[in-house]
Amino acid sequence: MPPMPSPMTNWTQAPAFHDEAARLDAADPLASFRARFHMPQHEGRDALYFTGNSLGLQPVAAAEFIEGELEDWRKFGVEGHFHGRRPWVDYHSFATEDLAALVGAKPIEVVAMNALTVNLHLLLVSFYRPEGRRTKLLIEQGAFPSDRYAALSQLRLHGLDPEEHLIEIAPRKGEHTLRTEDIEARIAEEGDRLACVMLCGVQYYTGQWMPMERITRAAHAVGATCGFDMAHAVGNVPVQLHDWNVDFACWCGYKYLNGGPGCTAGVFVHERHAQRPDLPRLEGWWGHSASRRFLMEPDFDLMPGAEGWQTSNAPVLNMAALLASLKEFRAAGMDRLRDKSVAMTDFLERGLLSVGEAAGGALEILTPSNPEARGCQLSVVAHGHGKALFDHLTQHGVIVDWREPSVIRMAPVPMYNRFADVADFLVVLEQGLRQAK
Ligand SMILES: *Cc1c(COP(=O)(O)O)cnc(C)c1O
Repeated sequence: MPPMPSPMTNWTQAPAFHDEAARLDAADPLASFRARFHMPQHEGRDALYFTGNSLGLQPVAAAEFIEGELEDWRKFGVEGHFHGRRPWVDYHSFATEDLAALVGAKPIEVVAMNALTVNLHLLLVSFYRPEGRRTKLLIEQGAFPSDRYAALSQLRLHGLDPEEHLIEIAPRKGEHTLRTEDIEARIAEEGDRLACVMLCGVQYYTGQWMPMERITRAAHAVGATCGFDMAHAVGNVPVQLHDWNVDFACWCGYKYLNGGPGCTAGVFVHERHAQRPDLPRLEGWWGHSASRRFLMEPDFDLMPGAEGWQTSNAPVLNMAALLASLKEFRAAGMDRLRDKSVAMTDFLERGLLSVGEAAGGALEILTPSNPEARGCQLSVVAHGHGKALFDHLTQHGVIVDWREPSVIRMAPVPMYNRFADVADFLVVLEQGLRQAK
């Protein structure tokens, strides 16, 4: 296999970006965090990993966190529930403060539990309550399939025909992303027929960061509830779920949160719903008063806040890696991560535009150019290029996500990517665009 093209090869556009990358990396206050994660290898060197939007990298500390729980299990058996270093009976609570900080919430508003789609269902059971004239559920067209499946099955659960009661809002013809005024207009138009708005925080395919606060306000103005699937938003963009008055939200732990494959997910439920035994929900013993749980009483005694939506005890081994990652988020700080993210995605965008132009306008970026309307991910169409380009990237150690016919999704993740990764990628990309011509 050929070695990585060196920055010295005479490609016309990409090398200039190496000088800038070197300056930006030298000034990066978060540079040391790369060493706290395991970077996948390609032919004896670090791969160019841009798929942290799909599966975040393993924190070096994850092994120690997991081994700690294995040790407590060996030493204590069942007693680990009460005598471990992080007693398992309250294990979810060790993630609470950090998750709350990441999503702009109060601790009572968040809990780590289950997996994402499961949580989406649990929340829709409580917050999508069609009644009388108010029956409709609004999602976006092209939503992540699991979310759409969840929405459709929730409608059927209520005996409603999705054809009639599901709204899928789409971008204007010829556009890739939703306009805020169009979302607001559609919500207003549906008015008192709308029961719930359930959109993504950041769109997984286009990378668009939704105007969450304005959407929430519009939904509440017509008396609907409003929630977000934050799978691609949490740990990526700064959000203020409490202040924005969002009713509910959920996310997974394995994308930007780096909790590992199948990691425990999380939910947010606004404080104003913290004491709502009247809200129907699917109940389990972990949503029952913690102090009375082991009295094994037959009647359910609801815990206040998001914890009241828990059904089962926490998957400890799986959550241990999440705790290791959350420690890194605490140390890095979402403010600094966001600053670096904006700069690095801007750097990638300029590089793509420059390389794309040199290749005859081959690259079209679907993601909004306004930093306030995106996180770190850029979604790019490589016009006139197919799988050969993707194979070229893969052979040269670039890990990006490819969707047929020719959409590349790439996320320079501020926690562990360097500006130099982006510059190296641009060289490989430019070479691929020229070869595949
Ligand atoms: C990643 C992702 C999922 C995955 O769902 P799981 O329940 O974690 O398997 C669902 N929805 C969205 C929007 C996603 O980005």
